[in-house]
Amino acid sequence: VIEIGQPEHSKVTTCAYCGVGCSFKVEMRGEQVVRMVPYKDGKANHGHSCVKGRFAFGYATHRDRITKPMIRARITDPWREVSWDEAIAHTASEFRRIQATHGKDAVGAITSSRCTNEETYLVQKLVRAVFGNNNTDTCARVCHSPTGYGLSQTFGTSAGTQDFDSVEHADVMLLIGANPTDGHPVFASRMKKRLREGAKLIVIDPRRIDLVRTPHVEAAIHLAIRPGTNVAILSALAHVIVTENLIDADYVRERCETDAFADWAEFVARESNSPEATAAITGADPEDVRAAARLYATGGNAAIYYGLGVTEHSQGTTAVMALANLAMATGNIGHVGAGVNPLRGQNNVQGSCDMGSFPHEFTGYRHVSTPDVRALFEREWGVTIDPEPGLRIPNMLDAAIDGTFKGLYIQGEDIAQSDPDIRHITAGLSAMECVVVQDLFLNETAQFAHVFLPGSTFLEKNGTFTNAERRIQRVRKVMTPKNGYEDWEITQLLARALGYDMNYHHPSEIMDEIARLTPTFANVSFDLLDRVGSVQWPCNEEAPEGTPTMHIDHFVRGQGRFFVTEYVPTDEKVGPRFPLLLTTGRILSQYNVGAQTRRTQNSAWHEEDLLEIHPHDAEQRGVTDGSWVKLASRAGETSLRAKITERVAPGVVYTTFHHPMTMANVVTTEYSDWATNCPEYKVTAVQISPSNGP
Ligand code: SF4
Repeated sequence: VIEIGQPEHSKVTTCAYCGVGCSFKVEMRGEQVVRMVPYKDGKANHGHSCVKGRFAFGYATHRDRITKPMIRARITDPWREVSWDEAIAHTASEFRRIQATHGKDAVGAITSSRCTNEETYLVQKLVRAVFGNNNTDTCARVCHSPTGYGLSQTFGTSAGTQDFDSVEHADVMLLIGANPTDGHPVFASRMKKRLREGAKLIVIDPRRIDLVRTPHVEAAIHLAIRPGTNVAILSALAHVIVTENLIDADYVRERCETDAFADWAEFVARESNSPEATAAITGADPEDVRAAARLYATGGNAAIYYGLGVTEHSQGTTAVMALANLAMATGNIGHVGAGVNPLRGQNNVQGSCDMGSFPHEFTGYRHVSTPDVRALFEREWGVTIDPEPGLRIPNMLDAAIDGTFKGLYIQGEDIAQSDPDIRHITAGLSAMECVVVQDLFLNETAQFAHVFLPGSTFLEKNGTFTNAERRIQRVRKVMTPKNGYEDWEITQLLARALGYDMNYHHPSEIMDEIARLTPTFANVSFDLLDRVGSVQWPCNEEAPEGTPTMHIDHFVRGQGRFFVTEYVPTDEKVGPRFPLLLTTGRILSQYNVGAQTRRTQNSAWHEEDLLEIHPHDAEQRGVTDGSWVKLASRAGETSLRAKITERVAPGVVYTTFHHPMTMANVVTTEYSDWATNCPEYKVTAVQISPSNGP
């Protein structure tokens, strides 16, 4: 703990780790943080926080921060520190050269779910207005892109339907593919409180997460399914609801497209979707499945909470649609206490998606091919915008390997550690002529960079983040950026060097532009946020104070739309060479690739990634607790220590992806969601064998 005397002044800002979005009062003495205190009036956290957030200020002043821009001609050359003027001029000249030689589509950018709304907005504007293409994507591609697509198709908007406070009115919670006690600790505490008051919990997860049984809280049902079988188990739940007539018929008739409902009901009622028939796929006890379906459909207000265990599959979008189907069929959507809620991993993953970071959408999820929307942006920006969607992250890397994509600007994203099938990532990056990394530290991706632009931390900038409940909250600058600039200013410098006049003086002006262009943000301004604390979008003339619960009278798309969600097994198969299934997740003390949490002042943070393995599988392979093992898949191999536990079932192993020493994503594969290319991190066929260490 750092104590450096009594604070002299303080500001309220928002945690930059997970999608809960806790508010903190940052107490300062001069330019030094004395402590971060959870803010009692924070509407997402009500005065609570986890230890990770409280110590987040440590990385802002860590000695590893890079504060001077650097360039090099080849990635094998040493870095050379240069002035900001030289770094920006060099980057602009390289991007101009690449576009002149290889065409306008040879460059693109990746925005960050760690940066503010205003910063991600500027990056996609740079791409569309200055690069002249739509080659912009976000790290949400590899986490919640199926949420965006699945919920927009079924409900009409790409976001969770409730606010966090609504959990206090839930009678039943269906938690699938999420581990809130590690990933979203403050919200997990609220879930536990509600469970202690008598609400019931259904957990669907291959692993026995803490909420299955923890002091004073026990799940009513845990369906420990095989990895990769979410869609089959959700069809089984739907089968029971339809065949036992547990449908909310009035709700469906009044609120949903009835033809699509009839098709769905006919499909799920088939015997092949029954709990008994699907048990061979999922491994779940049919009686438990029947009990879970009855509880969800008849237990009162039922709220679904889900995470990356749903989205990061080859059928990620299908599973999101299947969850939406369940909620509509039982009338569990559009009122307090019920809904469908993605637990977003990163602080601003909702925001980066809202801000038009995807290659096919402007802000507010409007397609780039829609003429009147495009005309609106063309008028505001004074340019002509390409009507064709651009490249997604994996397509950018494919194109680089093919020799048609040469320049990439990466804002705050470490794709060489966090993205799947690392060999493919590094091959793509190595094939480019100008990789620009804008980040706090020399991360794994920087090994492949030609330009390093030092970024700023959440304590050094103004702006907004949008949390998992669509809550837009202020980020306030409490110290001078050590690198000299806030991230939005760096993007603006680059745009100007490329001949486009961006001329913002403060991020509030960027938010004003977003509000002018985005109907769901029409009333949002820094003045409003400073006055009322935070608002949940849509926030406009119809909902001047924001919208805690969505789809109350009608769905955003009009009527809710059911989709037939047929289970299709992943192409990733176990076999004699790779007989175990690996699935991955997070631990409380670390955050994503660990670049920040490993640099905070708490020794408990220095844990390593462990491989959880069932005693039966460990014994068969001669693996002992704490010993080193080799983890191998057809994509690659790595070494880590074993942790023998019955949290995982026989045939399943589990690890986290926080440490560059482990590089768990060396073994994950190229398979991805059929609709969005979200990688299938959660299912990899692997083999384990004793090893001598890395
Ligand atoms: Fe809150 Fe998440 Fe930050 Fe913890 S990491 S303080 S739960 S926002």
